[in-house]
Amino acid sequence: MYKIDYHVHSMFSMDSEADPFEEILAAKSKGIDDLIFTDHCDCNYEPATLPEMEPWPFLEVEEYWNYMTNLRNTCGYDFGIGIEVGQSTQALERANGVIESHPWDFVIGSLHNANKDLDYSLIDYSKRDIEKTFRDYFEELYETAKINNFSVLGHLYYPIRYVLNQGLELDLSKFDADMAEVLKIIVQNGKGIEVNLKGYVPSKGNMIPNLKYVKMFKDLGGEIITIGSDGHDTDAVGKYITDATEMVKEAGFKYVARYRNMKPTFEKI
Ligand SMILES: [Zn+2]
Ligand SMILES: [Zn+2]
Repeated sequence: MYKIDYHVHSMFSMDSEADPFEEILAAKSKGIDDLIFTDHCDCNYEPATLPEMEPWPFLEVEEYWNYMTNLRNTCGYDFGIGIEVGQSTQALERANGVIESHPWDFVIGSLHNANKDLDYSLIDYSKRDIEKTFRDYFEELYETAKINNFSVLGHLYYPIRYVLNQGLELDLSKFDADMAEVLKIIVQNGKGIEVNLKGYVPSKGNMIPNLKYVKMFKDLGGEIITIGSDGHDTDAVGKYITDATEMVKEAGFKYVARYRNMKPTFEKI
């Protein structure tokens, strides 16, 4: 089984202090065959944080690129250098500028906040119409998919993490048609999705997306799939990748995509 961790944050992300080399060693010790760093590059112009908080800083792209290329040249391990680009819908020029600025290996396209709204992790869902929040989310995710400036679309339906964390519920199947519309665009464009493991608890089976939606992607003709811990520290990096790879197999995939220079090749799982 070929194991990849293609969603890894390091000290270049505002929510991580992890040393990249220690993360590489952690991944190796867990039997990960290939790792790609995907530090945050949230591109929106409006702050998505609470009034008492600083806005998320913009990624120091040059510094990140130089550090990672130097590490790759000197550490004795091959790994990929990517970015997680957030909110292309809200700052397209900025997003595309970053994507075109360096020869990245891999780009995750993500949506972490609706336009002029809080990051989904910071919303108090008890004070929101949750279904409306999700309708708006899927509309903007559809627009994100259409922009097509990424390798894989990140953590489909990610706001549900935070709804559930707050002890609230949502019947996600109400959005199956919306999900299918997003996935159809991805398939048409020859792009992929990721299985994201942040907050995953084996007894809950709460990978994003879960088996049902990975199968939906497969049934719609999807071929490109990657797996990522979304790890922000050495403990999380490389964790549960076997579980996710087994799930992807169960959904009918025989390969995961390996990326370099934005090009996928396929590795048997
Ligand atoms: Zn993300
Ligand atoms: Zn992430």
